[in-house]
Amino acid sequence: MAKVLVVEDENALALLLKYNLEKEGYEVAIEARGNKVLSVVEQELPNVILLDWMLPEMSGVEICRLIRSKPDLKNIPIIMLTAKGQEEDKIKGLNAGADDYVTKPFSVPELMARVRTNMRRAPDVMTVKELNFEDIKMDLVQKKVFRGTQYIHLGPTEFRLLKILMENQGKVFLRNDLLKIVWGNNIYVEPRTIDVHIRRLRKALNEFGPDYIRTVRATGYALDKS
Ligand code: CA
Repeated sequence: MAKVLVVEDENALALLLKYNLEKEGYEVAIEARGNKVLSVVEQELPNVILLDWMLPEMSGVEICRLIRSKPDLKNIPIIMLTAKGQEEDKIKGLNAGADDYVTKPFSVPELMARVRTNMRRAPDVMTVKELNFEDIKMDLVQKKVFRGTQYIHLGPTEFRLLKILMENQGKVFLRNDLLKIVWGNNIYVEPRTIDVHIRRLRKALNEFGPDYIRTVRATGYALDKS
């Protein structure tokens, strides 16, 4: 069943959209908190995202950019919903990578038509089904990690950390960047928390092969063969 993620903090509107989308035969997930959207998208892998512009924690534009920066998520069509009708905002939204733009108040049948159109042009969402680095394999469909044929059990945070590193092989991430990507912008987490999760990740991975996570002194981490 095709899935739509509704990102909207106005509860009544979110429920109205859910009701109408379900009537059209879609499976629907709702998220109201901006800083949670990325992890929900990764988990649900929706075929289309309806994204409100004004959200608590993180704006729709920021979320849009973030989703577009992820190789395995960047092809999911995003329809921006906004009360702002100004041309300049529309351009901002489209520049951030939105595929379509609907101004509130909108007519439900029109929005449903837009969803259908974007659904049709939605490619297979999982364009990237697997990430590889040397003998490390991350199966994004089953959400499992292997080293060679050995299954590696990882906690959700370690999984996300490894995914970010595997998507950006060789890139050095500052601790703060990793914190932002893994926990979201407005949650305060002690920077050293990253070290704890990296340690766990290393422990799980290195039982079956060499350590490819490089510690960059006083800076952060990278995945490479140094
Ligand atoms: Ca809103």
